[in-house]
Amino acid sequence: MHERTAKANVFLREPTADTEEIRNAADANGDGRCGACRAGGGCSPSSAASGPGQRKRPSLTAELYPVAQPTPELLAELAEASRRLDGRSPEEILTWAVERYFPRFTMATAFGPEGCVILSMLAKIEPRVYVFNLETGYQFQETLELRDRIAEKYGIAVDFQYPDTTVEQYERQHGGPLYVTNPDQCCFDRKVRILYRVTRSFDAWASGIRRDQSPIRADTPIVRWDKKFGLVKVSPLANWTKKEVWKRIVDEKVPYNPLHDQGYPSVGCRPCTRRVLDTDIDERAGRWTGFAKTECGLHTD
Ligand code: SF4
Repeated sequence: MHERTAKANVFLREPTADTEEIRNAADANGDGRCGACRAGGGCSPSSAASGPGQRKRPSLTAELYPVAQPTPELLAELAEASRRLDGRSPEEILTWAVERYFPRFTMATAFGPEGCVILSMLAKIEPRVYVFNLETGYQFQETLELRDRIAEKYGIAVDFQYPDTTVEQYERQHGGPLYVTNPDQCCFDRKVRILYRVTRSFDAWASGIRRDQSPIRADTPIVRWDKKFGLVKVSPLANWTKKEVWKRIVDEKVPYNPLHDQGYPSVGCRPCTRRVLDTDIDERAGRWTGFAKTECGLHTD
């Protein structure tokens, strides 16, 4: 439907976009552990330094997951595109992204309201865009079933991407569930690591981030270089409000997670998501209760 433009191939690294290869790709480390863990030291991706007298932990992103670097021309192009697209509709932004990057354009979705709305738009613009879900093994049944309802309505089969270990294996390795004691590492192992594995085969990805979701997301540009994962990041809903997202869901009967009607403003993994009484407060409330953590690491540099 859309031809990829010659300009799209501007990265230092040349990934492939074969869907089967993506589905079957092995983790760069093979055993799901970082270099520090394999060396016997253990790690916490959010902690840069070790204790006194200990070797400084390696930078996971730099050493274990080298990513593509943009050319100055690409950065200038992205800045210009972001300015130009800022007042445009999400559909126009997605159309630009598809024309510019498809088939090397992807999206990760946790089936939040924003992801479901973007899927409904992609169904009209380019339903062949590869969309995947990070299936940690800890997701709600309602979330897994939403994947089937989306497929039924739009014909888009969101692909589950799994960590290398089952929940049982992972908890056995760590002597129990890590989300209780170290959710940063758990998110890294069961989400971020898989995102590195998948995104290395693409040039751009879409996110459902909105600027009004949380202070950390307030400055989200429409298009930018994602230096953490080494590809272009497009946020077609950056300018939309929560109200606009839900209006679209209601108007077009977009399938959504029924947990939102049961007091969950944001739905992540079951053990790290709680009901909240006042859903007008921070939309990320109810996630990682008891920890300062508000993001799983997919959308932070
Ligand atoms: S949200 Fe919780 S259970 Fe899911 S990967 Fe992160 S820490 Fe683990």
